[in-house]
Amino acid sequence: MDFLYTYDAVKLEVPLVDPEDARFVILGVPFDGTTSYRPGARFGPLLIRQATFNLESYVLDYDVDIAEAPIADIGDVSIVAGDSRETSKRIKETLCELLSVNPEAMPILLGGEHSQTLGAVEALKPKSYVVFDAHLDLRDSYEGNPYSHACVARRIAELGVREAMFGIRSGTKEEVEFARRNGIEWVHSRNYTLDTFIKVVRNLPEPVYLSVDIDVFDVSLVPTTGTPEAGGLRFWDVVEAIEWLVRNKRIIGFDIMEVAGGDVGTPTSVVAAKLLFYYIGMQWGKKSGGR
Ligand code: MN
Ligand code: MN
Repeated sequence: MDFLYTYDAVKLEVPLVDPEDARFVILGVPFDGTTSYRPGARFGPLLIRQATFNLESYVLDYDVDIAEAPIADIGDVSIVAGDSRETSKRIKETLCELLSVNPEAMPILLGGEHSQTLGAVEALKPKSYVVFDAHLDLRDSYEGNPYSHACVARRIAELGVREAMFGIRSGTKEEVEFARRNGIEWVHSRNYTLDTFIKVVRNLPEPVYLSVDIDVFDVSLVPTTGTPEAGGLRFWDVVEAIEWLVRNKRIIGFDIMEVAGGDVGTPTSVVAAKLLFYYIGMQWGKKSGGR
């Protein structure tokens, strides 16, 4: 099927099916129009897909071969240069088109700026938003733009979606107060444990949208991202949390955002691609009766 706002890109290096028949549908988001520090997230989708060329499709941990999972890659969304809101509307429309022909599809965004998660949440209408991020992203406006990457969680909160955030280590006093006033729970990366994660997410309403801003990981793992931060989470912290979530909550959409850089095999893209394969492995393993 053809989508109004997508075009072909380098594809994920696994066997692919048509979006009508897919359980997992990849959409690249090559947008970095509101990036305030390190540019290059427009190359995130390309870099993540290129990094999958180096990965085995068999995920050891789950005894699952994701080459057997029905995955589609519908290319990249056609962005409106510099216009975060218009680009996220195109994402919303693309996902609405997809869900109209395949309501069982689980969209997976590869980005690209975190601002664009808004479009996916608008299309999928989850009850909860679980996010791994170094930043609260709860500003009302940033550099004059309410659709900046620094405002995405605020815009999503305004839709009435419950929010829980993990790995946080950067925000303003105003953002912290907004979170307190609005019942948004967040866990500092210093205090992060799997038990804390479970305690916070256990009572969240379903379905859940899951977002990973790659800067949640320590800067040593992800040196090329829009706003790198020291003191972040380990790879297994995030994998183990998502394992719990996949087993215990209905997730309807997933993204890995803020991957940037210019070279093939850059650490940030390797971390993102591996996390992508783990996520598909967990979900597909669950469906086929594995762990
Ligand atoms: Mn961030
Ligand atoms: Mn973010």
